[in-house]
Amino acid sequence: MSEKTYDLIVIGAGPGGYVAAIRGAQLGLKTALIDKEEKLGGTCLRVGCIPSKALLHSTEQYHFLKEKSEAHGIKVDNATVDVSTLMKRKDEVVNKLTGGVAMLTSKRGIDNIHGEARLAGGGKVIVKSSKGDENLTAKNILIATGSSIVELPFLPVDGKTVVTSDHAIAFDSVPEKLVVVGGGAIGLELGSVWARLGSEVTVVELLPQIAPTFDSDISKLLQRLLKKQGLKFELGAKVTGVKKEKNKHFLTAEKNGKELTFEADKILCSVGRKPNTEGLGAAEVGLKLDERGRVHVDDHFRTNIPGVFAIGDVVKGPMLAHKAEEEGVACVELIAGKAGHVNYDVIPNVVYTDPEVASVGLGEEAAKEAGIAVNVGKFNLAANGRAIAVDSTDGVIKVIADKKTDRLLGVQMVAHGASELIASAVAHMEYSGSAEDFGRTIHAHPTISESMKEAALAVSGTSIHQ
Ligand code: FAD
Repeated sequence: MSEKTYDLIVIGAGPGGYVAAIRGAQLGLKTALIDKEEKLGGTCLRVGCIPSKALLHSTEQYHFLKEKSEAHGIKVDNATVDVSTLMKRKDEVVNKLTGGVAMLTSKRGIDNIHGEARLAGGGKVIVKSSKGDENLTAKNILIATGSSIVELPFLPVDGKTVVTSDHAIAFDSVPEKLVVVGGGAIGLELGSVWARLGSEVTVVELLPQIAPTFDSDISKLLQRLLKKQGLKFELGAKVTGVKKEKNKHFLTAEKNGKELTFEADKILCSVGRKPNTEGLGAAEVGLKLDERGRVHVDDHFRTNIPGVFAIGDVVKGPMLAHKAEEEGVACVELIAGKAGHVNYDVIPNVVYTDPEVASVGLGEEAAKEAGIAVNVGKFNLAANGRAIAVDSTDGVIKVIADKKTDRLLGVQMVAHGASELIASAVAHMEYSGSAEDFGRTIHAHPTISESMKEAALAVSGTSIHQ
């Protein structure tokens, strides 16, 4: 068996792992990057963030042509969608980006190794592939193995009727009736994609609100807007299983002691993701996992085994690509003796529906729960000139500031382009800005971003356009 020695071995080439490997190479570490999949980029690039956004974009164009263009004087008779072309474009986007990661990492002198890795103790990693086993050793090993889909025991995934997001980004035709189990980001985004293409979509959610990490007023507004687009919602309903009658499938659920049934051609199970630690040799080498099966790490991404670190979806914290990336960079900087750091108070969170929903920092409800007195400023997009000009007046910006100090604690919004707008709030919070600082910051006119400034001014009752 051949044996290679590195300064850093990264297991998992998702956004956490590949970014960490690049940072390692930049810092002069001899680095290997291992993934069991041929395509680099992990969940995010292969079956997550990127393919879902490609589909959201294409279907948004279609929805505009079908539902909105006539009001702009643009008449398109019989706009139709060819699902195979739509999917082909999505695949091309994925291939371009996964190929880009391979190119970037090779260019930096990183050894890309294909195979399934497991810890073997004493700085050793064994990589199993069709070529046989390969032994690698390193002073530093970074686990970035990500997460995979959670299945419900009473709703077994068969890939045909009961499906996961991996399948729902690749349907070859538009399902007539799609039932989405789980009203989080993934369910709402993929539900939107297929609703725009003509599916009758029902979202069944256990909690009393969709997008539960957002304030309830933001979540309710989103629900109302998605309802206008044809999505149906059944909240507070506990899914119990799936049954087949006369060749038709039904999702069953229970709400207030009553059984509900939803006819479905496809049932998308999007109830969350679980950390990938299986096959990693965790038990064999004594790697400590936490109560939720995630790799246990301290504030410097150190596991209980000296020289073994972990970041991204496989550790605590929000399962987001940008969180994984920042952790990857910080962890490798710490390994290289630098002062790597992640500011967990300012991780933006986005649901890419139309309009999008975005937040950073504390919501009004979370701040109140934490016993912090707040001032809240809101600005409705219906009063924003650009939003009116571009026909995107559905939405609101909400700024939450500390009542005593005026420090910006958080921003939540429903807005067209919220994923881009949230960046300026993140920057203000990163530099501990106040609502007044934000309100006095010049924003170009006419832009929807002016609503951010107006909402910040509204904190002190000095908003101009409402
Ligand atoms: P991953 O991306 O999961 O990568 C882990 C890699 O490790 C994988 O490539 C896997 O093959 C490899 N691996 C695992 N075990 C081994 C092993 N033993 N040996 C070798 N290789 C191994 N996040 C956002 O921030 N924005 C979004 O818009 C967004 N949209 C999403 C949409 C969908 C449909 C899904 C499913 C997820 C979405 N996410 C989004 C979440 C995002 O994909 C994850 O948070 C992110 O990919 C986590 O990065 P990671 O590097 O920790 O792990």
